[in-house]
Amino acid sequence: MNRLTILGSSASMPTKNRGLPSVSLLYNGTLLLFDCGEGTQRQMMKFKVHFGSVRYIFISHMHLDHYLGLFGLIQTLELNSRTIPLDVFIPKGYENKIKSVIKLPKFVNLIPYESGEILTTKDFTVTAFPLEHSIETYGFVFKGNDKKKFDKKKADMFGIKGKMFSEVETKSVKIGRRVIKFEDVGWVEEGFKMVYATDTLPTKQTITMSKDADYLIHDSTFIEDESDLAKDKKHSTVAEAAMIAKKANVKKYILYHISPRYKNIKMLEKRAKEIFENSILPDDGTSFRFA
Ligand SMILES: [Zn+2]
Ligand SMILES: [Zn+2]
Repeated sequence: MNRLTILGSSASMPTKNRGLPSVSLLYNGTLLLFDCGEGTQRQMMKFKVHFGSVRYIFISHMHLDHYLGLFGLIQTLELNSRTIPLDVFIPKGYENKIKSVIKLPKFVNLIPYESGEILTTKDFTVTAFPLEHSIETYGFVFKGNDKKKFDKKKADMFGIKGKMFSEVETKSVKIGRRVIKFEDVGWVEEGFKMVYATDTLPTKQTITMSKDADYLIHDSTFIEDESDLAKDKKHSTVAEAAMIAKKANVKKYILYHISPRYKNIKMLEKRAKEIFENSILPDDGTSFRFA
């Protein structure tokens, strides 16, 4: 089962109830982390996300609240005699910031990245795009591969059977005098899409990149009436993030990077829902399951 889990959703400092930014995505058996704030490994244990199998970590930017958890996690993996590779993607130019803290064990590949497709596997791709924050920061688009599906009835009708199925997926098949193309007997199911965009001001590119996403996890640090503060600190308000979700036509907007200043956090979710109904402010540990 594929599963998206909010491991930490607080901004800048942890609270009693919220850890620092990190989201895990288990997709087709591969475990990915987006950001790795302080205490992420403990959040993983607490919320039953198997930390030993994490394969990829994507760091959005080099503010401490987004990457401090890397060191502890790597050390624990080393103590557990990890051998399988762990690819850690960090914005280009910051390699020494990581290496000055920890001697990286052999299994860690530190991969500096810039905008563009930064990872392609047989099941999915991850693309980085620039955000607008006080330092260089990137958002990520996770996209599962599209899947070709057959319409059994149509396939029967056209006489497609056996290995013709795999043939018709890539090229047309001739049966008698008839040429059958994939479109005649099947359709393409869009792959799962998730966008992770924090820390940032609202940007047009985030709307473009988030088009029709299943989930948009977006910086929602401030409530609207403090938007000067949001601009000053280069974060988004809940209303701004909800508007991005609406314009991008996403299925669900997840409020994220919540300022610890708010006691009544339900107020943030309420504000978001006024603009975009399918908004949710999850507790840490909330999981979203999907096929
Ligand atoms: Zn932050
Ligand atoms: Zn930041």
